[in-house]
Amino acid sequence: MIAAEDINGKILFQDGDHQFIWLGADPEAVSGVVQTNQYLIIEKGRGMLLDPGGVHLFARVVAVVSRYISLDKIEAIFFSHQDPDVSSGIALWLGVTSAKIYVSSLWLRFLPHFGIVDQSRVIGIEEHGNTYKLAGSSTIQFIPAHFLHSTGNYSAFDEKSRILFSGDVGAAVFPPGKEQLFIEDFDQALPYVEPFHKRYMASNRAALQWIKRVRPLNPIMLAAQHGGVYKGKGVTEFLDWFERLSCGIDIIETIYK
Ligand code: FE
Repeated sequence: MIAAEDINGKILFQDGDHQFIWLGADPEAVSGVVQTNQYLIIEKGRGMLLDPGGVHLFARVVAVVSRYISLDKIEAIFFSHQDPDVSSGIALWLGVTSAKIYVSSLWLRFLPHFGIVDQSRVIGIEEHGNTYKLAGSSTIQFIPAHFLHSTGNYSAFDEKSRILFSGDVGAAVFPPGKEQLFIEDFDQALPYVEPFHKRYMASNRAALQWIKRVRPLNPIMLAAQHGGVYKGKGVTEFLDWFERLSCGIDIIETIYK
């Protein structure tokens, strides 16, 4: 269960004027709708949102974000990929902030279908990844995670906190009442992690490309878009497991059985 005091968000890292914040859980989660996590990085009073989510979460996420920073101080919004639970709130977020949106260049032409948006405020991330300087100084690396699961897909690594926002990689789908904020014992979370990865992630070959880039970063936490935040030995246990996983087209015959 998520602790009552965390329901409206929790600071995962703080050092001076830098924070990495989990934006809480939806107390009115609807059954049949996948649970999502949203995150906020603050550097010197300037903010970046990570996968702020779809239309039905908008009011709740705005309320929680506003506890930490005023909306006009959000300068960037990162979308790991194009799915509705990540980015269908795009037109609303562009309306209440002056932020620029960063998303795979593959999805630029598709996002306007979520609502008319000012395309000059949507910036494509190149295939090999880019870096972004929050408040002009704090580096966020956009790490390629292509085909995990989306064709054009990125994780975001905050160099100061050394927390990796991993998007759908590491996602756990907890049954109602089993939600947990932190995953420190991977074996215990495995039943909620494995089915999603086997079906949604494209292949082990895709996973290896991502792991090759993530391991040298030595992240202290993996903050996923669904489920929990890996920390402690949970981080390496997950990476070791994912590195060996057969998934997607590796096991495509089993899907048709
Ligand atoms: Fe997705």
